[in-house]
Amino acid sequence: MSFSDLGLNPKLLQAVEEVGYTIPTPIQEQAIPYVLMGRDVMGVAQTGTGKTASFTLPMIEMLSSGRARARMPRSLILTPTRELAHQISENFENYGKYSKLSKALLIGGTSFAEQTKLLERGVDVLIATPGRLLDLFERGKIMLIDTKLLVIDEADRMLDMGFIPDVEKIVSLLPPLRQTLFFSATMAPEIKKLSDKFLSNPKVIAVSKPASTAENVQQTMIKIDGGAKEKREALRQIMTGEGDIQSAILFCNRKKDVDILNKSLNAHGYSTAALHGDMAQSSRTETLQEFKDGKIKLLCCSDVAARGLDIPAVSHVFNFDVPINPEDYVHRIGRTGRAGRDGKAFTIATIEDYKALKNVLSTIHTNVPVVSLEGFESWSDEEAASLKGRRRKRPTKPTSVAKTEAKPETKDTKPRGRRKKAEPISTEATVDTNTAEVAASPAVVQDDKRSERKAPRAAPRRKTKPSAVIGEREPSSEPSNPTSSFGDHTPAFILREAKVA
Ligand code: AMP
Repeated sequence: MSFSDLGLNPKLLQAVEEVGYTIPTPIQEQAIPYVLMGRDVMGVAQTGTGKTASFTLPMIEMLSSGRARARMPRSLILTPTRELAHQISENFENYGKYSKLSKALLIGGTSFAEQTKLLERGVDVLIATPGRLLDLFERGKIMLIDTKLLVIDEADRMLDMGFIPDVEKIVSLLPPLRQTLFFSATMAPEIKKLSDKFLSNPKVIAVSKPASTAENVQQTMIKIDGGAKEKREALRQIMTGEGDIQSAILFCNRKKDVDILNKSLNAHGYSTAALHGDMAQSSRTETLQEFKDGKIKLLCCSDVAARGLDIPAVSHVFNFDVPINPEDYVHRIGRTGRAGRDGKAFTIATIEDYKALKNVLSTIHTNVPVVSLEGFESWSDEEAASLKGRRRKRPTKPTSVAKTEAKPETKDTKPRGRRKKAEPISTEATVDTNTAEVAASPAVVQDDKRSERKAPRAAPRRKTKPSAVIGEREPSSEPSNPTSSFGDHTPAFILREAKVA
């Protein structure tokens, strides 16, 4: 099937061709005809499947006739994050370049005055985050009685972020006779309930099983035992093993840790920047642009900031922390392997991530190699299970990474976690028969700072400090355990797969 079979007008087809698409993706092929028919659509599709164009293309087609009235947008797209809103807006710019549609972006962090001015002129497409839209509604700057087309994008994320009451309020302000398109990466029971509430006789289109991960992303989980410092060391080793990484996104569970990781990598000479919800919108936009332009190679992110980022050249995703919500894992690794390219995703798991790791593995229904990294202690499921109920202690305050790591370590290195004495590099992996795990050989190129160090003494678990630092969460609940491990170098050293029970 080609785009011309979908019922789109020649101008739109030309714009699509100029963007470089030749064949519609499955979600586009299946959804576009139904959207054009005026049907409600429930699309179960993860990012990277082309879902954005599956609603923006038919919207441009449908909205090309008719005119918008002041303060009364003709269509509304609700999205959980500003970044996603920007991307949707870019889609409209690309595909709508031959259609004179007006659009406005209502997102936090930008001036009310400018947004109000645009609304006054009348907009065909309004792209908004729920909070900002309600703000403007409450100020009487916008009316939704003429909004006959509603898109709710990334509904699962809206749910996670606690936006559903706002979304419900917004939907109640729209005319009941409207067309609704509802997209979610997963079809959890709560999502099903919401779709039943918002949609009328929808055409359900699922392009991949819920919470599935893209097949073109090669995933590796790396178990190490240690604290945040050891994780950073391991991360650098993995990256070294990967060679010249063109573009990578690194995820932390907490904003605070995003900053720490960013500083650490900077101090080690990496081209890196941070992106999280505490940053001003202008610097978020600027950072993203620099990353897209290749001026920054590594982007340290929180989940919220990275949601929906669509940068086709991202070759790697590193989960510095195992996400607490397994669906975040799917979204995180969906930042790579986009638009038909291959990608790699590495996840670093400490013993405290045991439960989260198990959740991820059971959610994705995919066999992912779980490996340990030579030079670092690993942990077994049995050890993790025996720690249940008596959490391992962790330092309460993260130390300033830039300071402690940028210089060669001398005696400061009382390990927070256990670390193996540095061993000679071997190219062979070893198999621990108890845990059925592969112990990966170290990255071929060792971190030179690390190699200068004396091997730290192994510290018994009990001697480490308590872990109860709860950082600010983005947006509402950060996990309570600071993260603490990292992974090693690529599939070169992974000789055998092993499943986690
Ligand atoms: P999305 O799932 O909407 O975030 O899109 C994922 C990526 O696929 C984006 O980089 C799009 O530009 C790209 N894309 C969307 N539709 C197509 C298509 N028909 N052919 C090739 N790439 C596409």
